[in-house]
Amino acid sequence: MSLRVLVVEDDREIRAMLQAALSVEGMAVQTAVSVSEAAALVRHATPDVILLDLGLPDGDGADLVRAVRAHSAVPVIVISARHQEEQKIRLLDAGADDYLTKPFSVPELLARIRVALRHRGTALSAAVTRHVHGELSVDLSTREVRVNGAAVHLTPTEFALLARLVRSAGRVVTHRQLLADVWGPEYTEHTHYLRLYMGQLRAKLEPVPAEPRHLLTETGVGYRLAVE
Ligand code: CA
Repeated sequence: MSLRVLVVEDDREIRAMLQAALSVEGMAVQTAVSVSEAAALVRHATPDVILLDLGLPDGDGADLVRAVRAHSAVPVIVISARHQEEQKIRLLDAGADDYLTKPFSVPELLARIRVALRHRGTALSAAVTRHVHGELSVDLSTREVRVNGAAVHLTPTEFALLARLVRSAGRVVTHRQLLADVWGPEYTEHTHYLRLYMGQLRAKLEPVPAEPRHLLTETGVGYRLAVE
């Protein structure tokens, strides 16, 4: 059965481009031009992936994300313009899985969809416990972290931060999510903790800490552990 994708986008050209690009990949594409139309569609059948544009005529889709999240783990990928940082973060914190900033390429979009689906699969089966990318390997069950095969010692907080990123490998994790999950819900404003610990992690794990290949910064949004 082909993958069912719901594209929510009011711009006719972008909608047509997405529909064409995804259909070529063998996906069954449904489209909606507003939040309300999308909400009506998902009430009948939940697609396998939702691509949600932020610039819609009737809202930013946060309610849609919350409504979908109430009964389904379907990946929601937000498509945003550069100036929509705040809205984007709000949707990620509401339960959206990831985002793409316009203009993006079709390969980028397909990569994000693959990562999102991989996580949906693992959410239903076993949790992600291993991460291997280039010279970095992390095993959450044994708490082993290696760079080029050599064991690296991490402090408990450094390990907790890395583990949180491993569990969402390939997807963005917002500052708020990282702070809440690693330090606790009362620490969500303490972004300086993140900068400090991310600096320490990069110094230990990155071949060139100033040019990270694993612990990627998503400016103004959060961090992403690279997978491909
Ligand atoms: Ca739009």
